[in-house]
Amino acid sequence: MDRTKKVKRILVTGGAGFLGSHLCKKLLTEGHEVLCVDNFFTGRRQNIHSLLDNKNFELLRHDITFPLYVEVDEIYNLACPASPVHYQFDPVQTTKTSVVGAINMLGLAKRLKIKILQASTSEVYGDPSIHPQTESYWGNVNPIGPRACYDEGKRCAETLFFDYHRQNNVEIKVVRIFNTYGPHMQLNDGRVVSNFIMQALRNDSITIFGDGSQTRSFCYVEDMIDGLHKMMESDKDLTGPVNIGNPTEFTMLELAEKIIKITGSKSQIAFMELPQDDPKQRKPDITIAKKNLGWTPNIDLELGLTRSIEYFEKLIFDKTVKNNSSKINYERV
Ligand code: NAD
Ligand code: UDP
Ligand code: UDP
Repeated sequence: MDRTKKVKRILVTGGAGFLGSHLCKKLLTEGHEVLCVDNFFTGRRQNIHSLLDNKNFELLRHDITFPLYVEVDEIYNLACPASPVHYQFDPVQTTKTSVVGAINMLGLAKRLKIKILQASTSEVYGDPSIHPQTESYWGNVNPIGPRACYDEGKRCAETLFFDYHRQNNVEIKVVRIFNTYGPHMQLNDGRVVSNFIMQALRNDSITIFGDGSQTRSFCYVEDMIDGLHKMMESDKDLTGPVNIGNPTEFTMLELAEKIIKITGSKSQIAFMELPQDDPKQRKPDITIAKKNLGWTPNIDLELGLTRSIEYFEKLIFDKTVKNNSSKINYERV
């Protein structure tokens, strides 16, 4: 650790989830104290198992839709299920987490006069009519569809962040995260990368929704965490929103083919019905992140998938791991 840096006590909401657990680890490695707050809806103790013995790590089971009175120096607000299967399981709770949760965390930041980073999402662009997506694009979201609990919840959270900033001078950092993948994703959370890897490793059919021509741009978790951290450390004036994601775009068919090739799987492709309001294309314009944060992703899809497949392979055959079936988990975990 660099001794010239001030040691901070940092709150990470959603810290037991996929991104949150990697972020907690990075902050601890830098010598900070971390307070991880999670209600374990989609997070798992296993993700933070290696951190539990660290004297600088504290875990609090708490739902951020309820007020939280703690003393910290900065906040990363990541709490919210991110997989469509999970956020649609209890849509009202998803909206509450995004909106009421944001109010509570902003209230906390306001009282303590500290900065707060919001994990927003490319979903604020909905099914985008401009390509690639720049931060100035206002989006194309169906406000009453099955994805709205998440998309509109996150849009309202952005509104709250900017109003607390204008009205109460809260220092805010809003990051729009594009599809991210890697170790600590739940094996059966229904997202495309985890689904395809699980199916390929088990030689099950790879389920492509629609004709597979829809695109996404996948960012490896290590790059994403670096981007979130750079944003938190950036100039006071940089409120965002800033896109963070890997701009290399793939169709879902190309993704399936890549995963089949890397795993050497015998899986066949099975085409299934496309879910309602599924965005046709998604690719971040990362000019602002490059210019203002000096951030670009370094890990390409081939390398990121290879690392992810190694992680999934280990878990899938580990009989001690709960929920390691390839069946998508529609229940609360
Ligand atoms: P995740 O589901 O793995 O993690 C979310 C965490 O939040 C879980 O640990 C869950 O238990 C916790 N949580 C949910 N509701 C809560 C509540 N009310 N109170 C306290 N904790 C709660 O998802 P992730 O992929 O790690 O996503 C983290 C954040 O990043 C989310 O806000 C998500 O919207 C955002 N994001 C992620 C992606 C991605 O591709 N992974 C893309 C865009 C945005
Ligand atoms: N809040 C919290 N922790 C704090 C301060 C506030 O959880 O340390 C919550 C509290 O529930 C409040 C919300 O944040 O309702 C918004 O706070 P704010 O000060 O903006 O509004 P007010 O208290 O006036 O409703
Ligand atoms: N998808 C797919 N097969 C699956 C899971 C997802 O073809 O088994 C598609 C899905 O329809 C979408 C893309 O992959 O077009 C990304 O889905 P994901 O749920 O990972 O994220 P999001 O839609 O939120 O970007």
